[in-house]
Parts: sequence; C-alpha cells; structure tokens
Amino acid sequence: MLSKEVCGESLLVDVPSLDSQRTRCELRRVETKFYLWVDVPWPCRLHARGMTNPKIEEDVVTVRGLRKAYGSRVVVDDLDLDVHAGEIVGLIGANGAGKTTTVECIQGLRRPDAGVLRVLGCDPARDTDRLRTVLGSQLQDSALPDRLRVGEALELFATSRARSGDNLLAQFGLIERRKSAFASLSGGERQRLFLVLALLNRPRMVILDELTQGLDPAARRDVWAAVAQLRDAGTTVLLVTHELDEAEALCGRVIAMRNGRVLDQGPPAELMARHAPSATIRFGSDVPDLDGLLTELRRLPGVLSADATAGRVDVRGDRQSIAYVGAELVRRGTVPTDLDVELPDLQAALLRLLDTPAESAETTTETGRTDLALAGATR
Ligand code: ATP
Repeated sequence: MLSKEVCGESLLVDVPSLDSQRTRCELRRVETKFYLWVDVPWPCRLHARGMTNPKIEEDVVTVRGLRKAYGSRVVVDDLDLDVHAGEIVGLIGANGAGKTTTVECIQGLRRPDAGVLRVLGCDPARDTDRLRTVLGSQLQDSALPDRLRVGEALELFATSRARSGDNLLAQFGLIERRKSAFASLSGGERQRLFLVLALLNRPRMVILDELTQGLDPAARRDVWAAVAQLRDAGTTVLLVTHELDEAEALCGRVIAMRNGRVLDQGPPAELMARHAPSATIRFGSDVPDLDGLLTELRRLPGVLSADATAGRVDVRGDRQSIAYVGAELVRRGTVPTDLDVELPDLQAALLRLLDTPAESAETTTETGRTDLALAGATR
C-alpha cells in the first residue's frame, strides 16, 4: 500500500522502491487535478503508477503558466505545454512568437520569470546538470570549430552514457566523414552531425530547433528520414520549425504559438479539419443537364456552393461533401474523367490560424486570410 499525506499544496507519498525500501516523495499540486512529481526517483514512479493522473506520469515535459520577459517585454505569457513520451511534437509560430525562449526554458538555458516546469523528472532551472544527461538538443545556429574533425566532436561530447559513435555515424550516413573537418561538411551533413551529437548520450528526449533551415531538398529529406528513425526508436522529440510541410510529415501533434501563447494544438489532421475544413471539387462543365446538376449539388449535405465558370464546375464544401458529390455524379451516370479534388494542407490551416486576429483565433473559419509573409511561416 502507498501511504499518502496532504501537506499544504503538496501530497507526500511513501513509495516502495525497487530494493523494497520506502522513499518519501513530494507531489505538488498544479491544477485542481494535477500533481507534479517533485523529487521522485524514476523506479519509484513506476511503482506508484496509477495513483495520480497517468497523463502526468507519461509526460516528458509539463509546463504550466510559463512566463518570460526581456526587460519590460513579455515574450512568453502564461504558457501551458505538454509533451508525452514517444511523441514528436512540432512547435510552430511566426518569428518572435517565443518558441526558442520556451525551449530554452525547457532545457534550463534560461530561467523563467514564473511558472512550473518539469522535464524528464527534473526542474530545468535547478537540475541543469542532471537534465543534460537525459536531454539532447540541437540549437538554432549550432556550430563547431572549423578544424574539429567529426570523430573528435563525438569524443568531445561523449559522456559515460554515450553509445557507439561509429554506429550513430553509420546510421546517419556519416561514417565516411569520420576524419573530415567540420568546415568541410555540407549543410545537410552538419545537421546530421548535430543530430548524432544530440543522440550520442542516449537522451530520452531531443529538442531540435530549426533543424532543416537552409538545407536543400535532398538534405532536408535525409534529415527528415533521420528524425523519423528517432520516432521509430521511441525517442521523444520536440521540434521547433517554420516548415509546415515538415511539421505535417513528422509530427504527431503540432502546437501553434503566437505572442508567447498557445493558439491551438492537435494532430495535423485535427488542425486541418478545424482551421481549413473546406474542399473544392472541380470538373469540366461539359456534362448533361448542367443546370439540373448544379441545383442538385447545392442541395447536398456540406456543400457551400456549386458554380460553373469558364468551362469548369467548382463545388465547395466540407470534407464529407466530397463523398456526397461523388455519389451524386455516380447516380447520374456522369462521372467526369477530369474530376479533381483540392484539399487544404496543414500549411493552409496553420497560416489561416496564425493570420487570424487574436480575439477570433479560437473560432477561425474559412474566412481567415492566408498570407505567408505575415504569418512568418517561410523563410
Ligand atoms: P524565431 O522564429 O525568429 O526564431 P521565436 O519564436 O523562436 O522566433 P524567440 O527567439 O523566443 O522567438 O524570441 C521572442 C522575442 O524575444 C523576439 O522578439 C526576440 O527578439 C526577443 N528576444 C529573444 N531573445 C532575447 C534576448 N536575449 N534579449 C532580448 N530580447 C530577446
């Protein structure tokens, strides 16, 4: 049996550890239902599983009420964020949204002004050294001395927990470059080397900040494949990116930030359904009884409009309307050979969200304007 005792905002628990001893642990109340493990050895947590909200136990990162200001300027404002074990989470937002500041606080590189942060069982502001042993990171604008060779970089960064550097170099296609100086590596090779260094000491989580910035398409594809390998190996990844196709390809969940706050989050498919729900179906207007067809299409569930212009029929509606339009065309025996369906992707959905005035962001609809430069989504 676990014995527990409430003490102010904390819950003190005697947890059996693996060697049958008992360890007194503190769980601190964060919200009505949530407790954060404050000082609990990992095996004890496993024993105590099920006694508090399991979501928290599986969280690799828990951030509540994070606030960070530079001078009088607040750049992260009452931010809540969770990353669960084994997830690839994408953090996206315009330049200056506060993404890097947030991940720097998560890594213990910046001290928050307010908020509770728990990262892999550590308080990043206090347990920086312990956190460094379980967290790997590739930061924006990383660099190494020009003349440092790849193999030497691995020796420099390896701790006692390090895995075989050669295996990692082979896994990421760099084994032939072991003796090469950093300055001689291509952009893609450098990014893959930073990934190798981030993974070298067997981290339970990696933070990758603008991993593919400035890479050519082939190098980007290589780095994406490397991140997908991490996911397959069960490593938790927090990915800061401006590349929305990258977020769509790699992330199980995307968190959109603006002005230091979370605007919305969810799996890419959910965000697309929420912020870019409409589909457009197109086909040539050379069909029997065009007027009758248009009238019928406008009556179908989910269809917003059906019009014929310049020899084309455009039908706009929600995603389900695609099925109804297809069924109607089949029913009439006039399935066009040039049928085309256009569905907005994650980029369209997030740009619409990021470009929506703050007060209406939560009810974004099709009316949002799409503007790449304004949303700062591409560079
Ligand atoms: P980007 O996409 O451009 O990297 P970001 O979302 O990562 O942006 P941050 O780098 O966290 O945003 O910066 C948030 C804001 O804080 C920006 O306006 C930036 O100019 C400012 N800022 C960042 N670091 C500092 C600093 N050390 N001192 C003062 N202001 C800073």
